[in-house]
Amino acid sequence: MAIQVTWLSHAGFALQIGTHRILIDPFLSGNPPAPAKPTDLDADFILLSHGHGDHIGDAPAIARRTGATVVANNEIGGWLRAKHRLEHVHGINPGGGVKLPFGRVELTIAHHSSSLPDGSYGGQPNGILIKTTAGPKIYHAGDTAAFLDMQLIGDEGIDLALLPIGGWGPRLSPGHLGPAEAAAAAALSGARHVIGIHYGTLYPRGWPTWHLEWMTRPLVDLASQLPVRAPAATLHPLSPGATAHFSSRSGQLELDVVDQSGPA
Ligand SMILES: [Zn+2]
Ligand SMILES: [Zn+2]
Repeated sequence: MAIQVTWLSHAGFALQIGTHRILIDPFLSGNPPAPAKPTDLDADFILLSHGHGDHIGDAPAIARRTGATVVANNEIGGWLRAKHRLEHVHGINPGGGVKLPFGRVELTIAHHSSSLPDGSYGGQPNGILIKTTAGPKIYHAGDTAAFLDMQLIGDEGIDLALLPIGGWGPRLSPGHLGPAEAAAAAALSGARHVIGIHYGTLYPRGWPTWHLEWMTRPLVDLASQLPVRAPAATLHPLSPGATAHFSSRSGQLELDVVDQSGPA
């Protein structure tokens, strides 16, 4: 089975798993490097890690337009139903999951916070674990610090880990993985394939490019740290809008090609 993984910049992804279209944390409006507008994207399912605006993003508008089913924690699920009048919502607790046509989606723990854009309580932050019906497992860590339970999350094997390696701007605030911690997360979870995310997002308009070394530095650092701390993992650097084409072979995820041409 084919699994396509398109990076929408920041923590956002468009996945195609077989015939199913899945968005994760689709933050596009107000996000300069985003390769697509919210109206460009179709979705059957939208998975949300936590309540922060750079993760909820355009999810309510896309869900309303497409009728996509949203998976989030209970508090975000209730907020989407009450505030955005969405009907197709699965609200689940960390450690719980829901069976969907492409596999089972579970919410893992994450060490972070989760307030919603309007200041409402957004429950506990989460990571997202997708156990596809075909076998491969995909782990989106959400926003989090490193934690030892990543070993348990990877207990059955993680084929692809989508790991944050930076912050919103040049500064890495507490409660986020940096490149070294992301490499440790790859080792703890036993990930075979790694994509670094959540960096290089806040482009200050009008700044000369030589000021922007911090935009790309996290990926450079991850590329040097990963072989040391997680030698079994392979890094796939993606530009915003790029798609990594994988196939599931004998239940494992193998990379066929990376198409950097984007957009999604
Ligand atoms: Zn956050
Ligand atoms: Zn974030």
